[in-house]
Amino acid sequence: MAQELQENALHQNAPAREVAGAEIDTKAATKAGRAAAAARAVERDPRWQKVVARDRAADGDFVYAVRTTGVYCRPSCAARPAKPENVAFFAGPAEAEAAGFRACRRCTPNAASLAEQHAATVEKACRAIETAEAMPSLKALAGSVGMSPYHFHRVFKAVTGLTPKAYATAHRDSRAKEQLARAGSVTEAIYDAGFHSSGRFYATSNAVLGMTPTAYRAGGVDTEIRFALAQCSLGAILVAASDRGICAITLGDDPETLARELQDRFPNANLIGGDAEFEALVARVVGFVEAPQLGLDLPLDVRGTAFQQRVWQALRAIPAGETASYRDIAERIGAPTAMRAVAGACAANAIAVAIPCHRVVRNDGALSGYRWGVERKRALLEKEAQA
Ligand SMILES: [Zn+2]
Repeated sequence: MAQELQENALHQNAPAREVAGAEIDTKAATKAGRAAAAARAVERDPRWQKVVARDRAADGDFVYAVRTTGVYCRPSCAARPAKPENVAFFAGPAEAEAAGFRACRRCTPNAASLAEQHAATVEKACRAIETAEAMPSLKALAGSVGMSPYHFHRVFKAVTGLTPKAYATAHRDSRAKEQLARAGSVTEAIYDAGFHSSGRFYATSNAVLGMTPTAYRAGGVDTEIRFALAQCSLGAILVAASDRGICAITLGDDPETLARELQDRFPNANLIGGDAEFEALVARVVGFVEAPQLGLDLPLDVRGTAFQQRVWQALRAIPAGETASYRDIAERIGAPTAMRAVAGACAANAIAVAIPCHRVVRNDGALSGYRWGVERKRALLEKEAQA
C-alpha cells in the first residue's frame, strides 16, 4: 500500500522519461521515499504555512526556492503552489542565488521592498522639487517617478508627513529665510529662493507668517503640537508649534504650570516633546524674546475668532519701542467702541512677544495688566525702548 502511494507520487513528479525494468523501479522507489521525507520536513517548517497562506507579512523574512523550476519567490508570491518536497527555504535572495536559483519574475524577490521603493521614490521627488525653478505640477512629479498623481500624493504624504505642495512651500520658505538671514538684498533673496515676483513673496509670506486668518480649531482636534520648555531672561518660556507654525509662546515662573496650561488650551491635541530640530527652533524664539526688535522670521499658527485676529494683526503693526492704547487699537481695527473687547483679545493672546500685546498700555499711558505678569511687560518695554 505504502509502496503503491510512493509509486504514484513518483509518477506524478518524475520527468517524462521511460521507466522500465525492476532495477530502475527500485532506485525510483528510494528516491520517492526521500521525496516523502523531504515533504514532511518542509511541512513541519513554520515557514511553509506562511507560503501556503501567501503571508505578505513574511516577505523579507525569507524566500523559498522550488527545485523543479529553479526559481525562488517571496512567501506571498501568487504563483501556483509548489509541492513541499521540492521546496527549500533561504534567508534571502543572496543565499538562494548562491545555491543556483534565480528570482521569480512575478514576485521579484530580489527587488527592494515596497517601503524601500516608496522611500527611494519620494527621495527622488524631493530632490526634483528642491532643484526645480518653479514648483513642478503634481502630475509632472508623479509622472517622473512612474506613478499616478493620486497614488504618488498618498505615498509622498505617508513617507514625509507633508503633501508635495507643502513640502515645496516649506523648502522655499526655509531657503528664503536662510537667505534673508544672510542678508544680501531682500530682492536678491526673493529671486534666489525661486519666487518670481516680490509681490508674490510678500503675499505668500503674509500667509506664512500667520496674518491670514487660519481656521479656528477648537481644542486642537487632530492636531499634533510639539513643545519645549526653556529659560530666558524673563523666566520660564514654553514654545509650542503645530505643523502650521508657532501656536504658543508663554512665559512664567514655573515650567510645569506652562506645560499644564498648554494641555488645558489644547485638550484634544496630541502633544509631543520637542526633538533636536525643535530645540533649534526654540533657541531662535528665545533669541527673539531677548531682542524683539530683530523680528521673528518663523510662521505663526494664529488661532482665534475673527475679531481676535484683527486685534492681533493690529498689535503686530506696533513697532518695537512704541506702545499703543486699547483705544488706539480699537480705532485701528475700525471698532472704536470695542475697547473692552480689545482688552479681552490682548489677554487671550497665547503667542507672547511675537504678537506684542505687551506694547498695549492704558489710555493714560500707564502699564496695564499683562497675561504673563506686569514685571515681564515692564522688562520687555524697557528693553525695546533701549534698543
Ligand atoms: Zn514568485
